[in-house]
Amino acid sequence: MIDLQIHSTYSDGSLTPRQLVEEAKKINLLAIALTDHDTVEGIPEFLKAGTESQLLPIPGVEISAQAELPPNGHLHILGLFIDHNSQELKTNLEFLKFHRNQRAAKIIERLNELGVNISLEELQQETAEGSIGRPHIAKILLRKKEVSTLQTAFEKYIGKGKPAFVEKIKFPEQKAIQLIKKAGGLAILAHPHLMNYPTFSDMQRKITSLKELGLDGFEAYYSGLPESYTSQLIRLAKKLSLLISGGSDFHGKNKEGIFMGIGAGDLQIPDSVYYNLVDRWEKLKSSL
Ligand code: AMP
Ligand code: ZN
Ligand code: FE
Repeated sequence: MIDLQIHSTYSDGSLTPRQLVEEAKKINLLAIALTDHDTVEGIPEFLKAGTESQLLPIPGVEISAQAELPPNGHLHILGLFIDHNSQELKTNLEFLKFHRNQRAAKIIERLNELGVNISLEELQQETAEGSIGRPHIAKILLRKKEVSTLQTAFEKYIGKGKPAFVEKIKFPEQKAIQLIKKAGGLAILAHPHLMNYPTFSDMQRKITSLKELGLDGFEAYYSGLPESYTSQLIRLAKKLSLLISGGSDFHGKNKEGIFMGIGAGDLQIPDSVYYNLVDRWEKLKSSL
């Protein structure tokens, strides 16, 4: 079994890249991908730990993209097998990091105006490295008993439309896909259902247009998806000649009830998914 969507302390996960590898070894996974939000800073530690423990570590990233979507829809593009040393990728991710830091400062400012006790210094301690996200802020609010659960932090303050919400700068979908491809990776649409299209055929239309922009595949296996939906997605991938991928979206204890490899308990991503992806990636590389 494999797991190709995992987050570390370099974004909003609770385990370090090395701890993730240890966990994956413990549960006997063949391959895992580290896909932190908008950053590849954890990849060197991840590759070192993975290679040492004879697990197949796949360097990855998850980029949030700007797109016209139904309300509350999200478009996240995963880069798998990326060259994390690509200068163009690094420069662009640095740009996102800079804006994430600025946005975090604005959120803190708004929270302070609302009488909530939190400082930028506390946030900097929480995120010594990597990319800052709202989950870090939620965690501090919980620790300081400003809220009773992480969810409440979003519902009361930092969720979309709430008083301390600040938009994040995102790359347009085309740029997110091309950045990944130029860094030698496969561009994979994460959790397609979270784009929030009302029907499967609306979602299919969107995926088709992303394919025209260079998309290589999408996740058909994901935490909580019913088997029948996964089968439907696999059929769609065949029809559109796209690859399939799959991941739990594991965040350690920052996302309760989701476990590495098995997601909410019943996820099983076959090794063949990994072999098909590697196969395509190797063909792409040799055609360059
Ligand atoms: P950011 O990239 O800083 O906008 O943070 C996005 C992350 O915040 C998502 O990946 C989720 O993990 C988390 N998140 C967003 N909205 C909510 C919510 N309503 N409840 C809990 N977590 C949320
Ligand atoms: Zn996350
Ligand atoms: Fe995502």
